[in-house]
Amino acid sequence: MTAVAARVRPASFEVVTGPPADGRTRARLGRLRLPHGIVETPQFMPVGTNATVKALDPDDLHAVGATIILSNTYHLFLRPGHERIQRLGGLHRFMGWDSPILTDSGGFQVVSLADSRKIDEDGATFRSHIDGSTHRLTPESAIEIQEALGADIAVAFDHPVYPSSARDVVVDATERTHRWAERSFNAHRREDQALFGVIQGGLEPDLREASTRFIAGLPFDGINIGGLAGDETPIERRDTIELVVGLLSDDPRPRYLMGLGSPADLLDAVHQGIDMFDSVLPTRVARTGNAWVPGGKLNLKNAMYLDDPRPLDEDCPCLACRRFSRAYLAHLFRARELLAYRLTTLHNLTFTLDFMARIRAAIAAGTFVDSMGELGRRAGRNSADEDATMAGEPAGDPQ
Ligand SMILES: [Zn+2]
Repeated sequence: MTAVAARVRPASFEVVTGPPADGRTRARLGRLRLPHGIVETPQFMPVGTNATVKALDPDDLHAVGATIILSNTYHLFLRPGHERIQRLGGLHRFMGWDSPILTDSGGFQVVSLADSRKIDEDGATFRSHIDGSTHRLTPESAIEIQEALGADIAVAFDHPVYPSSARDVVVDATERTHRWAERSFNAHRREDQALFGVIQGGLEPDLREASTRFIAGLPFDGINIGGLAGDETPIERRDTIELVVGLLSDDPRPRYLMGLGSPADLLDAVHQGIDMFDSVLPTRVARTGNAWVPGGKLNLKNAMYLDDPRPLDEDCPCLACRRFSRAYLAHLFRARELLAYRLTTLHNLTFTLDFMARIRAAIAAGTFVDSMGELGRRAGRNSADEDATMAGEPAGDPQ
């Protein structure tokens, strides 16, 4: 029995339908059991940066089909503070969400958001992007913060770099990520919380391979693939996932690719064997007036929608589509009414989570590869229409 299986852990992952023997795809159907519920994979996690998915309440999140959300350790540490949230009963109670939550490590926000950061062997010192105050995160404190927040899944503190970083920068950050992964694991005490570790290694195949072997060699409950969904090309991303998942093919743990959010990108990554995703993309683009629909997107700031009585998508079950017209939503955006943000966010998350459900149904039916063309068209791939260009939107986002 391996060290992983010998431990009683708060998360268990079961592959319900594995990849077919013919090797045409690595897509797989899984079930992740967590203290606050079961997550069917492949799955997308909406991002609730400040203990809220912007513009939505928990009932809205259940309505769009969310079964797990992500919240940001860095943001909650700075405001309102993890100790305050702990005194108030933990993150689930604080935000009124009783289903699974994953908190990230904070490493990405330190690198991408904080001012004048300084990373040394022990940790990272940085100035808050909110008020300029100085703070420090170490592997031990990042775990302490996440234990206080009490999410179902915590993540080991890592040192991310942008995919295009120079090799010596990637070497340094990847080796530090490994030392911090061990320290994070040793610091983690909470028995009702899973802990995932993060693979780094940039776009360098030898560093990626070494990082995959190192992180997979520790008894984490799941494996995050970091340092992608940034400024890499689609081919670089594909090759890196291919390498990592190939090395993990016999590993029993869930694989989580951090930061990916456009439906076309999600489809490709599921095909390559990824189980979990998160991104602010569907919610952020919603707040800019862009609604995702089968085949592409509608920019509600376009004047053509001011007289359009149709719903965003006639087949969508969300509140925006059941009750309101494109004309009404276009009006709300022009008037900068708050309801515009809620309705469009409801719609885009409904679209995204429904897309993942379609992917899972195809895997369960054994038809995933044959359905990829149809799913790709739904995701807006190969669309030449100016108003239907979703696949090309940037994948990465800092918060
Ligand atoms: Zn809708």
